[in-house]
Amino acid sequence: MIYDESDKLLEKESEEKAADVEDLLNLRPRALSEYVGQEKPVETLRIAIEAALKREESLEHILLNGPPGLGKTTLAHIIANEMHTKIVTSSGPALEKGGDLMGLLTNLEKGDIFFIDEIHRIPKIVEEFLYPAMEDFAVDFIFDRGVHARTHRYRLERFTLIGATTRAGLLSSPLRERFGIVRDLDFYQEQDLVRIVKRSALILKVPMHEEGAYEIARRSRGTPRVANRLLKRVRDYAEVRAKGVITAPVAIEALALEGIDECGLSELDRKLLKTIIFNYKGGPAGIEALAATLQLETDVLLEVVEPYLLKMGFLIRTSQGRKTSEKAHDHLRVPYRAARHERTGLFGDKK
Ligand code: ADP
Repeated sequence: MIYDESDKLLEKESEEKAADVEDLLNLRPRALSEYVGQEKPVETLRIAIEAALKREESLEHILLNGPPGLGKTTLAHIIANEMHTKIVTSSGPALEKGGDLMGLLTNLEKGDIFFIDEIHRIPKIVEEFLYPAMEDFAVDFIFDRGVHARTHRYRLERFTLIGATTRAGLLSSPLRERFGIVRDLDFYQEQDLVRIVKRSALILKVPMHEEGAYEIARRSRGTPRVANRLLKRVRDYAEVRAKGVITAPVAIEALALEGIDECGLSELDRKLLKTIIFNYKGGPAGIEALAATLQLETDVLLEVVEPYLLKMGFLIRTSQGRKTSEKAHDHLRVPYRAARHERTGLFGDKK
């Protein structure tokens, strides 16, 4: 079985999405006022919503870009709440045929939000149906084939498409240009994650010290979904081993048990960095080669694993591939100079 690591990761992502629906439903903020952080995109949306409500119009189409778990789906639901409209959700991979999309579009009512997750995965033929729908609020049905082909234009209600993507660069430019508002979500600041962890602990009724929230927040990879997941792991540990209260030592012990270090790196993150250091002498190593060595799908490496390592400066992206930084070597306690100099021959191995 190759790629079982990717399957595990993707399973974890979708399990978490499902868990969000069950007991984490309450953790999902419902209003812009409850949505922590991301001040700039939130302000853009707040203004757009207020203006649209004032003019009694629907919102322009919105594209949200950023790594998984940063709150794109949450924002889409909040926008629907704030606009007092219904939200219909789908995802790029689920829209296999033009007909799938037509069915959803023709059922939309005036002002509805149509949310497409992973919009960069929409098949090309389906994407082409989306253009007239977004621009003219119409879809073209084609009857018969060849010389007998006839098209019938079907009018749609004015709706708002919200697309979420982890890879905005993969979107074709005609699709991208049809969004009136395009916003990037970035990893969260530590103090925002502390607020998220405290808010979630309050909702889940878990007693927690301020320092406990801080220890969880700083291991959360700048990501609210991870913060909520770690909080649940620490809550279990606290209940079984520590009278139910999350203190700093309890959080540290619980997360060490999960293989998460003080920077929030998991075993997989460390394995990636060590592979570059030991198998490729610090790099550059091609992303495909790394994915194969780690038995991961390239997309998982690109979308789920590496963004945080790049952001934190553990990994450096170059045109030839990925390199580890001095910071990564320090973190893993592997001497930096020796590894790199050996590669460039300064220690005499390659004159
Ligand atoms: P994405 O769609 O970007 O993968 P989600 O919207 O599903 O991410 O967010 C994952 C979880 O993180 C949500 O269920 C929610 O509980 C939490 N979350 C995301 N953004 C925020 C935020 N700004 N404030 C509080 N919680 C958040």
